[in-house]
Order: sequence, then C-alpha cells, then structure tokens
Amino acid sequence: MKKHNFSAGPSILPPEVLLKASQAIVDYNNSGLSIIEISHRSKDFVDVMENARALALELLGLEGKGYKALFLQGGASTQFLMVAMNLLEKRAGYLNTGAWSTKAIKEAKKLDDIYEVASSADANFNYIPKGFDVPSDYDYLHCTSNNTIFGTQLKQIPQVDIPLVCDMSSDIYSRNIDYSKFDLIYAGAQKNMGPAGTTLVIVKEDILGKVSRDIPSIMDYKLHIKSGSMLNTPPVFAVYTSMLTLEWLKAKGGVAAIEKENEKKASLMYSEIDLNPLFKGFAAKEDRSMMNATFNLTNDNLKETFETMLVEAGISGVNGHRSVGGYRASMYNALPLESVKALVEVMSELESKA
Ligand SMILES: *Cc1c(COP(=O)(O)O)cnc(C)c1O
Repeated sequence: MKKHNFSAGPSILPPEVLLKASQAIVDYNNSGLSIIEISHRSKDFVDVMENARALALELLGLEGKGYKALFLQGGASTQFLMVAMNLLEKRAGYLNTGAWSTKAIKEAKKLDDIYEVASSADANFNYIPKGFDVPSDYDYLHCTSNNTIFGTQLKQIPQVDIPLVCDMSSDIYSRNIDYSKFDLIYAGAQKNMGPAGTTLVIVKEDILGKVSRDIPSIMDYKLHIKSGSMLNTPPVFAVYTSMLTLEWLKAKGGVAAIEKENEKKASLMYSEIDLNPLFKGFAAKEDRSMMNATFNLTNDNLKETFETMLVEAGISGVNGHRSVGGYRASMYNALPLESVKALVEVMSELESKA
C-alpha cells in the first residue's frame, strides 16, 4: 500500500513524476541510454536544463523581467554563504524567524557585518515578527518565507527599497504571491520540487557585480549565469526530476491552481487541530504555515495510542522536528487532500476513543 507521506523533506513527489523519472533512469526517451549516463553537454540534457530553467521562471510569473534561474548544488545551506559572497559589501539585514534563518545569519557573519532586524527567538520561533525597520543603506534584506521546522509562514512580503533575498525552500510554487517583489530567491529542491541534490536560485541580474571581493568561481552567480547553469557538471537527475514536477504543476494550472488545493488541505488540518481538545497548535494562528502544520498532544499519555493508530492508517512522516517536539504534518504540493483527510480521521478517532 502506498503510504500517506507527510515527510518534511526530502518529501512527497507526484506519482506521475516518480514513474517518468524511473523510466528515464532506465531508458531516456527511447534513446537506449539513461538520463544519468549521457553527457550533460548533449542536446538531450541541454534541452532538459533549458526547459527546467524556463519553467522555473514562468511558473512564478518572472519571465522577461530580468531574472535568471540556476540549478546549483550544495543545498540551500550553501546559499546561506553564496548570497553573502555575491551581495554583502558593508552590512545586510536579516529577519530571524527560525533555525534556517539562524544558520543563514551565522554563515553571512563570517564574511561581514549583518544586523538582525527582528527575531522571534524569544518564543522558540512560534510567530513572525512584524513592524520592523530596515535601514535603506543596507546591501539587502534576507528573509525566510516558510519556517519548515516551526510551521510559520511570512504572510506579508517586507516592503523595502533594497534588494530582497528570500529562502523559499519549503513553500516555493505553493502560493500565488508577487514573486517580482524579490530580487533573489533560493530553494533546495527536496521540499516542493524534486529530489535532494539541486537548489534552485532565481536572481535578478542587475543586483549582481556590486561587491568588491574576488568571488571564488563556483560561488559566483554571474559565472553560473554565463555558463547557462553548466559551470560544472550539474546534478542531472535532480534537475530532470525537478523539471518533471514543474511540468506537472503547469499542467495542473500552475501556482494559482495549486494554492487553492493547498488552502483546502491546510484549512482541514488546522480546523481539526483547533476543534479537537486532544491537540494544540504550536504556531501563532495568524502566522500558520500552509505547508507545515506543527501541533502537540494535550495529553502525553495518548502518545503511544496515537502513534500506533497513525502507523495502522499508513500515515508516515508526522513526527515533529527535535527542536519543537510533537508532530508536524508537511502538506507540500504533491500531497493529495485524501492524505490530510486520513490524518484528520485518525485525530478525531483518537478523540472518540479517549
Ligand atoms: C530544508 C531547508 C533548508 C536546508 O536545505 P539543504 O538543502 O538541506 O541545505 C534551508 N532552508 C529552509 C527553509 C529549509 O526548509
């Protein structure tokens, strides 16, 4: 039986994508060769890369607006440093909303001065700080659109006159926002797009080339752009599979269509958390993430019963992150509504048993 996969990352992909990707491993487009055993310079793969880069921009409404899409390696964690290397000259602002923001701050500090414009560390990151000021002479403001571990999401895009950088690893392509408000977006593929191994970077070209440091080649966005995201051997399978997911999303009607499904899933999940007295949500209500719902049992004695029921219902991946505890239901684009229904059913069954 196929499981209901609530894993936080790497995470669920559409079954159609898994099927196509597995076929391409054996024989890519009836070429007699696997997608992972052909040259990345071959026409077959260059077409994949170009299609993936074009779709990445098109689905966010960013084509023809001065942006370039790159499929890089090293995960979102490498972007913590790469962003600073390419953009940090004097001082940058960081909005600290969770474990990933904290890590981004730590890496950027190795290069130069950064300032935390606001932080929710005082409450174990269960809310998003609001009403902070960002000096207009900073090099950029860095934010995290969705805090995967804590289950909070940035609902309001910060209004700034300086370049806006955002780690969108866990909610890119999930909601219909004005992506052109951002100058640089990065996202590890393994949450909402593809397998681990590639990181999507979308950057507005005119913010680059302004720092005085001599950037190492592999860390230099401009060189990656110049080489068509082929500065060295790209992670071919991860790029190909990400392209398949983007094609799947486009066929479904794009980000606007998937947002409606994601809203339905999240609202079903959160109404159970709110109405069922055995559960309590972790994140502040107005900041709740549509992707990762974090919650706890109100009575720890029910832990074993609940977890046995989850296993019996084929529900996988709902254990919370070690820094929050409790449970986390990750409801990425590919998770069907039926899976949320199955989880909610177990929760309400627990209530009737207790
Ligand atoms: C998972 C995650 C990361 C880390 O991604 P890696 O690809 O493992 O480096 C960074 N930021 C956010 C918001 C994440 O969810």
